[in-house]
Amino acid sequence: MKIVKLLANLGYGSRREVERFLKAGIVTDTDGHVLGERDFPPHDQIRFQGEPLDQVSPLTIIVNKPDGYTCSKEDPDVTVYDLLPPRFEHRNPTLSPVGRLDKDTTGMLLMTDDGPLLHRIIHPKYNLGKVYHVTLDRPLEGHEKELFASGNLTLRNEGKPLLPAELEVLGEKEALITLHEGRYHQVRRMFAAAGNHVVALKRISIGGLKLPEDLEEGDWRIVTQAELDVLF
Ligand code: URA
Repeated sequence: MKIVKLLANLGYGSRREVERFLKAGIVTDTDGHVLGERDFPPHDQIRFQGEPLDQVSPLTIIVNKPDGYTCSKEDPDVTVYDLLPPRFEHRNPTLSPVGRLDKDTTGMLLMTDDGPLLHRIIHPKYNLGKVYHVTLDRPLEGHEKELFASGNLTLRNEGKPLLPAELEVLGEKEALITLHEGRYHQVRRMFAAAGNHVVALKRISIGGLKLPEDLEEGDWRIVTQAELDVLF
């Protein structure tokens, strides 16, 4: 791959813009020597405005999503891409959310450009549980655990019953729920079917990989290989 294509794929600019950056001398090696279109040192020796380049594909990041951010790139509202460096929105291959969260759901969001990994995390056949912390409007009544575990609960306007889900009651209006699939507004609709209303929802883990305690709301970081191994 040529340096222009590499930088364009990493989202630093269109090919034309990258050509201009090269001419302007802002792409250098580690010693500050200006690179041209024909130069192509190893990736870790290229600097853009003095900074090391982003990792090439495959890249997986973890975001601690705050309330009020949508997961859709096209959304006119504020989106999770606004939490990342602007160039991340223009990477090729695209960095996509792994199982979207509602605008008002907070917590763990993985974003990846690794298609097989995305498939593995969201496909029910791999049975990676997604755990949510739920805060409810009304006290739990006691029947919810059995209802959600039954495999017989069918949501409105859907033909197929939900896969069994586990409920761990933490308090009168507080619980953890583990899902093994990802249907639209699933947790909110499950509690609505049980006669309750979700007032706050936070995803805290996916397949044994937990939202890191030191990752502040609105922050993100690259997922390490050791963390990815937990998913397999
Ligand atoms: N279930 C929901 O209802 N919303 C989410 O964002 C995720 C799971």
